[in-house]
Amino acid sequence: MEQELHEECGVFGIYGSKNAANITYYGLHSLQHRGQEATGILVKNEHEFTLYKGEGLVSEVFNAKKISQLNGDIAIGHVRYSTAGGGGIANVQPLLFRTMHGSLGIAHNGNIVNSNPLKEQLEKQGSIFSSTSDTEILAHLIKRASGRMIDRVCISLSQLEGSFAFLILMDHALFIARDRYGLRPLSIGQMSDGAYVVASETCAFEVIGAKFIRDVQPGEVIRIKDGQLKSTFYTKNTTHHLCAMEYIYFSRPDSHLEKINVHTTRKQAGKILYEEAPVQDIDVVIGVPDSSISAAIGYAEAAKAPYEIGLIKNKYVGRTFIQPTQQMREQGVRMKLSVISSIVKDKKVVMLDDSIVRGTTSKRIVGLLKEAGAKEVHVRIASPAIRFPCFYGVDTSTVEELISRKMTIDQLCQYIGADSLAFISEKGIQTAIYKDHPQGLCMACFNGRYVTDLYDNEV
Ligand code: SF4
Repeated sequence: MEQELHEECGVFGIYGSKNAANITYYGLHSLQHRGQEATGILVKNEHEFTLYKGEGLVSEVFNAKKISQLNGDIAIGHVRYSTAGGGGIANVQPLLFRTMHGSLGIAHNGNIVNSNPLKEQLEKQGSIFSSTSDTEILAHLIKRASGRMIDRVCISLSQLEGSFAFLILMDHALFIARDRYGLRPLSIGQMSDGAYVVASETCAFEVIGAKFIRDVQPGEVIRIKDGQLKSTFYTKNTTHHLCAMEYIYFSRPDSHLEKINVHTTRKQAGKILYEEAPVQDIDVVIGVPDSSISAAIGYAEAAKAPYEIGLIKNKYVGRTFIQPTQQMREQGVRMKLSVISSIVKDKKVVMLDDSIVRGTTSKRIVGLLKEAGAKEVHVRIASPAIRFPCFYGVDTSTVEELISRKMTIDQLCQYIGADSLAFISEKGIQTAIYKDHPQGLCMACFNGRYVTDLYDNEV
């Protein structure tokens, strides 16, 4: 699936390094797949905060000169694809707030589902919001709370409902927190010089040479100060519901979420998909690049059929979602993907994809394969059908656009022009991810079982 789903953000932070901004740049660069719309880095030294942010890719917004102007030993950074609050520079993170009691910086991945009632309540109490981002709510709550800094953070977080991985920079300390359901991932690592790093995905640690220490637990707040980690929980009411789509689609294959490798789970999903929906006498198995390659390898292995690279992605074309109209989106796919005709011509092809959202991309790819001479195209999807919107920071399109809500599998198969179509079952994806770890996953976009109250958000 070519960018029909958009993850909201990635966060990266570092505490205790002379090269804080530089390392954050590389950390964000490795999280670029989580958001390409805007980015920012906030650094703090003993005296001041310095923030630089802009719209575009990490390598477009920052250069060596800008990074050298960001002096400090603590930094937080953010890459963004806007959902809640929309676009605009005021919403680009990190957000920096200057208050009577000192400054406060925040970077957030996720979505606060009770943001409207909280905002209304805060405005009645005199809070003035400078952005339309739900992230700003946390700053106002912290400002209004009293007590020790850690108590103010905990009491504020306990009022938020929804998904979050927060990095909060204040009082020469870095606070990191994860929502009580564990919906969004967040891991801690350490550099060889002792500096602590924190990131949405562990692939960011690889690139900077940091060692993974552990994942932040659901409901946990960790304060990093004076080189020490101090853990506390803002609530005892915690569950484990990491977003299943992190494994299926968003995260990089080299990342480990909750110590489980993403590539391995995708490959396993491909194997299970073969058991659940086999195709006989396959000539070749291919995957839609990039996130469906692992599942295609798994399917081919289980089917004892050859895996081949049948589709090539042009990495240098802008991402499809930049183009606003459906017609342009369809043209975008053609620009981005090409078929290796000799691989598919006169063959019975099984094509693995990670998901179907609107169906237009799948229809286009099946069309490309048939135009290239494929005899049959059997589509296998390594996620269950998406029938419900996500309220936890993932843009799954509007309900009306979700094609699996409007069509049966047979109708959808016909619509995309495939010879057969099958999705992995919920049990199948659960087994692929957590076979040896009986933990929960959020699968609300497949089954409508939301893990939180939805407040004024409508399904
Ligand atoms: S609803 Fe879907 S995309 Fe959203 S957090 Fe849950 S599993 Fe992830």
